[in-house]
Amino acid sequence: MDVVTRFAPSPTGYIHIGNVRSAIYPYLLARQAHGKLILRIEDTDRVRYVDGATELIEDTLEWLGLNWDEGPVVGGPNAPYFQSERKEIYHEYARRLIESGRAYADPAPPEQIEQYRKECNEKKIPFLYRNFRPKDTPEWQPGIPLRFKAEPKPYQWHDEVMGDMSTGPEVLDDIILIKKDGYPTYNFAHIVDDAEMGITHVMRGVEYLSSTPNYLALYEALNLPRPKLVSLPHILAPQGNKKLGKRDGAKSVTEYRDDGVLPEAMLNYLACLGWNDGTEQEIYTKDELIEAFSIERIQNSGARYDETKLLWMNGQWLRRIFDEQGAEALYARTQGFWPETAANYDDAYKLKVLSIIYDRLKTLSDLRSMTGYFFAEPTIDLEMLLQNKFLKKLSESELESLLKTSIQKLSALEKWDADSLQAALNELLSETSKKPAELFSLIRIAISFAPFSPALNLTMEVLGKDITLSRLNTVAAAI
Ligand code: GLU
Repeated sequence: MDVVTRFAPSPTGYIHIGNVRSAIYPYLLARQAHGKLILRIEDTDRVRYVDGATELIEDTLEWLGLNWDEGPVVGGPNAPYFQSERKEIYHEYARRLIESGRAYADPAPPEQIEQYRKECNEKKIPFLYRNFRPKDTPEWQPGIPLRFKAEPKPYQWHDEVMGDMSTGPEVLDDIILIKKDGYPTYNFAHIVDDAEMGITHVMRGVEYLSSTPNYLALYEALNLPRPKLVSLPHILAPQGNKKLGKRDGAKSVTEYRDDGVLPEAMLNYLACLGWNDGTEQEIYTKDELIEAFSIERIQNSGARYDETKLLWMNGQWLRRIFDEQGAEALYARTQGFWPETAANYDDAYKLKVLSIIYDRLKTLSDLRSMTGYFFAEPTIDLEMLLQNKFLKKLSESELESLLKTSIQKLSALEKWDADSLQAALNELLSETSKKPAELFSLIRIAISFAPFSPALNLTMEVLGKDITLSRLNTVAAAI
């Protein structure tokens, strides 16, 4: 059996972490099995439809490197891939069900249905529409919803993640297949499409598990083979037992991208949110994920979303790219993340800054907050200097004289490179008998006025002799 999986998002304008994870597993499975991944846009809910949302989905997948074999943009033998353009196909399947007596046009107005629901609520019995099935049903025509005629019975099935499942007849109902606007419901459309497109593994959020018996009934009524069902665990909010939602601070995937999270890190993090290969490994390339992935190791309980972990992983990836692919490869990813003042500096200088700071970044946008003093004079903040935990024990005149001694020593340096600077700093330490924390904090703050910086000799090397000395002079004078 050739593996065919699908990612079937609804274009509602916001792609969160959970949506994307539902794309990653089908992608990994398809690639591992040398099968196919189909992208299908489930846009039959015209009320929730948002313009531009499809492009957002495509951009997000492309950014993550999750290419699809059939679908929008690339086309394919099962076109069209927008459900809104497949109405005729659904209507054809609907007619088959009408002919076999398994679907009926439902003339009941919504108020009437509401009334039935209320009655059941009052009597505290479950509301099942099949108990109110209309006696006379008109011929099906536009403007009238089409319902499935359920045949209540127990079901048993195997979910590849949740295990063996069984339900009683009480969960089967006359679900709507085609709405009165002529568009199919999700419940009906996905059954038809998965069959038409030859999907072998239906991988989707576990929220669809409770509707599965109705889907099984539809496969039977339409005489369609059951695909393998793979329910993906919920992604839980950082606290409590709720599903992750917008309110928990989970940003959309593109927001993370705009904050300077790398696609490698996002893919790595999300793939491991609810799946592991049983080893201690945490950092995976896409190819490693394709190789290691297995449905059996998808966990069946909720996976907790942890942004700190994502950012940690991003830091690991930033380092990995620098160390393995080179400074320039990482530099190429930094466009748009530098402070505005960096625009006046050339690539070579920014590359040097990146090379000494990359291992402290969590996201690329940290460049904006952490490198300002490389591109503009820092604002002198004497309080910050005087209140520093290592410097507050020293008097102002002591600080001034320490700065002056340092200026003298550094001015005399002929070679301004990291090694010569380190040697000079070491000599200064023994000549002044100060502790490294004292002397180095003083110089570091005086040249950067930043809460932290890369190693002092590297920072001074990149800033250059003139700027370093002029900043030290200014601060000595200010004290
Ligand atoms: N359109 C559905 C959603 O976005 C897809 C569920 C499925 O994958 O079948 O939730």
